[in-house]
Amino acid sequence: MSIALLPDLLISQIAAGEVIERPAAALKELVENSIDAGATHIRVDLEEGGVKLLRVTDDGGGIPADELPLALARHATSKIGNLSDLESVASLGFRGEALASIAAVSRLTLTSRTAHAAHAWQIMAQDGELGTPEPASLQTGTVIEMRDLFFNTPARRKFLKTPATEYAHCEEALRRLALARPEIGFELRNGARIVWRVEPEDAATRIHHLMGDEFRAAARPVEHRAEHLRLSGMAALPAYSRAGRDAQYLFVNGRFVRDKLLTHAVREAYRDILHHQRHPAFALFLELPFEGVDVNCHPAKTEVRFRESQGIHRFVFHTLVRVLADRADPMNAPMDAVFTPAAAVLSHAWPSGKPTQTAFALRDSTTATYRPTLPATPMGGALPFDSAWATGVTREPASEEVPPLGYALAQLGGRYILAENAHGLIIVDMHAAHERILYERLKATQGQTQQALLIPIVFAATATEMATAAEHQTALNEMSVEMHAVSPTHLAIRSLPSEIAHGNSETLARAVLHDLAQTGHSALVTAERNTLLSTLACHGAVRANHRLSVSEMNTLLRDMERTERADQCNHGRPTWQQISLSDIDKFFMQGQ
Ligand code: ADP
Ligand code: MG
Repeated sequence: MSIALLPDLLISQIAAGEVIERPAAALKELVENSIDAGATHIRVDLEEGGVKLLRVTDDGGGIPADELPLALARHATSKIGNLSDLESVASLGFRGEALASIAAVSRLTLTSRTAHAAHAWQIMAQDGELGTPEPASLQTGTVIEMRDLFFNTPARRKFLKTPATEYAHCEEALRRLALARPEIGFELRNGARIVWRVEPEDAATRIHHLMGDEFRAAARPVEHRAEHLRLSGMAALPAYSRAGRDAQYLFVNGRFVRDKLLTHAVREAYRDILHHQRHPAFALFLELPFEGVDVNCHPAKTEVRFRESQGIHRFVFHTLVRVLADRADPMNAPMDAVFTPAAAVLSHAWPSGKPTQTAFALRDSTTATYRPTLPATPMGGALPFDSAWATGVTREPASEEVPPLGYALAQLGGRYILAENAHGLIIVDMHAAHERILYERLKATQGQTQQALLIPIVFAATATEMATAAEHQTALNEMSVEMHAVSPTHLAIRSLPSEIAHGNSETLARAVLHDLAQTGHSALVTAERNTLLSTLACHGAVRANHRLSVSEMNTLLRDMERTERADQCNHGRPTWQQISLSDIDKFFMQGQ
């Protein structure tokens, strides 16, 4: 083939492949155009996940009739004129390729009317050919209809997923946009059905509407400014954590981003209260001067580059640590519960342990004055509160003789310890509590309590495990783990931290190597070390169905009382619950 310039349609179709890979991407581009056009209400209609139809209707400024063909031309934009504009770009779109791309791979109809026009104009595009503008009827604003996406590029069409999946991507794309723009009303329709509709509102209300009641119940407001940086939004306490990353929204100057640096800062802030296999939930908005961030480094614009990345990392991390350290939170339900009215205790603890709406309402109204100082326990250990708790009202002290978590009665279902204290029944999640205690101990004693194993544990390792062990000797030593290759295919563990020397050493070693392989470097920062310690603790802790004697159970209860933060496990769930005698009385008085 001889060299030839590509035809225009083909150029647009190639470009479209990068920008418009699925209906959700088109939705994002079109809605961003509406936002840039100053719309106050934006409506999105979908059919078959946006593949058959995606229509975006706005009440923005509209496009003048003579500019309609230009709007659909490639590299035509009203938003930047030179390179310095690019540096300080405040509008969302700026490459001037979205409409041209969509027009190249679908049947597109653009209808628009500016405020002073006598009527609207409409133009259609298909296969790179523009029709002639015709008069149409419409209020001020713009309607863009995209039909039959990829009808003329069947290869691309094959990559589309089911309508249900494409629909889900569209909804998610609109949710991101709507979270970022609470001052704009949004409506999403799927076929004839209104899926959701939000009016212009404040940011917190918008987050509540789009992330739901459960998130909201566990969420703490974030609002912090330092110099030219601002972080705002909501971050959920671990009571509302997720198995996936589906409730994580980060915005930089109003744009949704997926950014390693920010995600890392957030995860680190959650590190100590959330197990690394759980994902925190949040909607966070970072604002900084436009010069401080480059949004131009990726066409889909979900990646950004910060000029002062370290400072931003520190700012986000410290802001969140402070928010999450606020102990007047739902996660402290068990601790508070000892002192709360019976009804609230019951709604926290029964039957699933999931905190309920009622309980939160009660808490919300009382958090301000409600920070008990606790009596020291008879054996001299204090309840696991941090010093922040030492201020505020002193409540009725617990009985002099009975320790706060009481004395063990029995083991239930191989998983729970039942104990009696001055208020009634205590139920402890044995594994979770033990894991927490080990974790805190490992953190406190790391490196100092190594115990040599009488007989080294030798196990067959994969090539990756062999390599990781060799590469991370320093990190392993820091953890008091001694592990070496004894052959090209076998590793031997020779010593472990004494706290966990009795656990299942082989699975433990594998889990640690897995974690290390992910950190990628041999010296550990605190957060990484804590991740490893929590893995060690998890594998060192008593397993379900492990029989404990009453005295072992009592030892665990006393350890909990002495351990900081023992009221919640490494995974962020409560480790124990109280059911008071009066609650139990109520079970038997019902119907009287
Ligand atoms: P970009 O947004 O990068 O400028 P687009 O291809 O998305 O490029 O849009 C091209 C131009 O069309 C925009 O610069 C804008 O002037 C105009 N436009 C697109 N959508 C709208 C809309 N909903 N309301 C008003 N003008 C619009
Ligand atoms: Mg655009």
